[in-house]
Amino acid sequence: MNLDKLSDILKTEPPYRFSQVNQAVWQDFISSWQAVSNLPKVLREKLERECPLEIKAELIKNNNKNKSFKALITLADGEVVETVLIRQKDKRNTVCVSSQVGCPLACAFCATGQFGFQRNLTAREIVKQVVFWGRYLKAENKGEKIDNIVFMGMGEAFLNYAEFIKAVKFLNNPETFNIGSRRISVSTAGITEGIKKLAGEKLQINLAISLHAADENLRKDLMPIAKKYNLHELLKTVDNYIAKTGRRVMFEYLMIKEVNDSDQDALKLAKIMARPLYLVNLIPYNETGRFRASSRERIEKFKKILEDAGVAVTVRLSFGADITAACGQLCGRKNNLEKI
Ligand code: SAH
Repeated sequence: MNLDKLSDILKTEPPYRFSQVNQAVWQDFISSWQAVSNLPKVLREKLERECPLEIKAELIKNNNKNKSFKALITLADGEVVETVLIRQKDKRNTVCVSSQVGCPLACAFCATGQFGFQRNLTAREIVKQVVFWGRYLKAENKGEKIDNIVFMGMGEAFLNYAEFIKAVKFLNNPETFNIGSRRISVSTAGITEGIKKLAGEKLQINLAISLHAADENLRKDLMPIAKKYNLHELLKTVDNYIAKTGRRVMFEYLMIKEVNDSDQDALKLAKIMARPLYLVNLIPYNETGRFRASSRERIEKFKKILEDAGVAVTVRLSFGADITAACGQLCGRKNNLEKI
């Protein structure tokens, strides 16, 4: 898909053509210009030639529960990014998008970081991932729409802030995708400049922080970026964000066996998390090599300790583990699973 020439082509057309095209591409999710019957034939043919709509993608089928799907999208320069569609029982659809090809942060527990960093994505490349799932849902599940967008795929959105925020605004724009800002979430490893910038936007998107350890040294071991942004600084920035926006912040905490899941870890976490508008989300770890996942019972016990200490806490249902599309398992590599 390449719409670079679109504005130029529409310049000589009456202004309402823009709305027609916006509706067709971003809301009706057409995959051929021929399908836009309210455009003159000559214009449709021109667009067909000069603004190709095809998205090069490979869909990975989920064999079991039909809950989540992964797609590998090939970009113009041949780089590949992953995006995931999570279909929940209540027919809510969440699209997880990547903001970078690879990731420079190299968190010890995450597959993406282990494969290094290639480059930032443009806003168009981010949006393209959503268009892909819009078309998919239109074709496969008539009537279902995309409800939520999460920036939790490959990469760190706050290290690609300008393109990330451009994509958010585009997704939020009533003229294009019209996805409510409260249905858009971004997760950061704790880049404080990004948190500050987001606090200054007139956008009510949701902020999540990848915390994963309440102990400074352990956090540095797991997430090298914590050497640059220490816990104190990070939490101070979050508090300022909350003061400015009045919005709740989610702290993601991976449950890694015998690494960060002891009773002492829970108590230490409770000390810093028992605050208004803080919400802790415990995430069952998807194994990617080095670490093991905490047991269900351990997670429940950990949760209980937090609750008893007055911390707001939930446990995340982990989607997509069976197609290596779950959090932290995205690495842009093809695997030999069944495709459709
Ligand atoms: N760079 C951003 C967004 C990408 S990761 C960030 O760090 O937040 C999105 C979420 O998946 C983060 O909370 C991340 O820590 C989590 N994650 C990473 N590896 C995981 C794994 N192996 N299992 C489960 N979640 C993981």
